[in-house]
Amino acid sequence: MQALPRRLPVLAIALAVLAVSTPAIADLSILQPLDELTRVSPVIVRGDVYSVDAAWEDGTIYTYVTVDVSEVFRGGAPARITIKQLGGVVGEMGLAIAGQAAFVPGEEVMLFLGLRPRDNTLMTSVLWQGKWAVSRDAATGTTEAVRYAGDDDDGTPLLHDRLALADLERVTQTTMATVRDVTNSDIVFTPPEAPAPVNTVDNPVAHKIAFLGFSWHEVFAGTLIPTLFGKTKQPKVGTGAKQIKDTVKAQNAIKKTLPVFKKSNKYKGSIVGSDLRTSACAMDNVVFNRDPKGEIANDGTLAIGGAFFFTNILIRGFSKACNGFVVMNDGSTADGLMQNKTCYHNVLNHELLHAMGLGHSTKNVNLMFPSVSMAACQGGKITYGGDDKKGKKKLYNSNFAARVGH
Ligand SMILES: [Zn+2]
Repeated sequence: MQALPRRLPVLAIALAVLAVSTPAIADLSILQPLDELTRVSPVIVRGDVYSVDAAWEDGTIYTYVTVDVSEVFRGGAPARITIKQLGGVVGEMGLAIAGQAAFVPGEEVMLFLGLRPRDNTLMTSVLWQGKWAVSRDAATGTTEAVRYAGDDDDGTPLLHDRLALADLERVTQTTMATVRDVTNSDIVFTPPEAPAPVNTVDNPVAHKIAFLGFSWHEVFAGTLIPTLFGKTKQPKVGTGAKQIKDTVKAQNAIKKTLPVFKKSNKYKGSIVGSDLRTSACAMDNVVFNRDPKGEIANDGTLAIGGAFFFTNILIRGFSKACNGFVVMNDGSTADGLMQNKTCYHNVLNHELLHAMGLGHSTKNVNLMFPSVSMAACQGGKITYGGDDKKGKKKLYNSNFAARVGH
């Protein structure tokens, strides 16, 4: 357990009430205390979102968020930056990344940003953890910073923290005094491939995507969803292969829900780099060990999960998913936790459930709670519980669920 700063009693109380108090696993991740969030973020700014746009890059979809910077806390950012977030919607194809920070043109934000290993572009640290929306109330004169831990199963943003902006800034500045500033020569403040920012501040609806969640429609027809596993091993945890096998076994043991099966351990491809624009949307989950394309920073993120989906195909109100995936991080923080096989198993299960379409739960004993601590996963306190079951039932109504493979 990491102690909260003693000099900030008000904030400490707020955090104790509003957040779990132990370091936990974004998506799935360690819940970074604010001082640690500051340390792992080479760029920290406050500003206004000017535009939000999505585009294909290197075979996958990114959302480019252009921010007019009003204050730089760390990293020497210029007056306008464009961050690059994995996921988004382009035409008839969408990529849902569980726990990813969402942006609306015109909103004021405080951002804790990290570097994408593969191209040094900026992204929010630890997915949702690095994005705070600033809320100013002119009537009461209060200014708050609000943070959401992704969405729940209904697609509703899950409120995680709410505190005075001044307290958030104070922690940041206090921590900054104890860490060295970073050299910014390698930071890409504007990705060269980013679409030219278009002012959509006055028309936020234009970029607000009605995302209703996704399901694997094959399941309604009784078809199994193959799950392929990357060949690269996790360090020290054994091989990872046993945990994957156990996870699939556990998933398939759940009656009348989405069945998966282990198709092969020889898959060497990568979700980032395969051109999905030109190939048919295969109905596979893929598990990548050790972040083969350098998509996740060493910031406490343990793994990410999600799926590509068709925006124009709906069944029972859900988009049709394809190409679900899980990428396990290879950063030292993630490696430390993944060495525990129970923790590895929990992370993998959590992400596979995201790949199946589940959102986050507010119950910290359930698999879909947005963060997890070493203590909790080691102690076997995390179980496939009520909220997880409810989520699966909602997406895969038992009347339509596959009856094969159990
Ligand atoms: Zn998650």
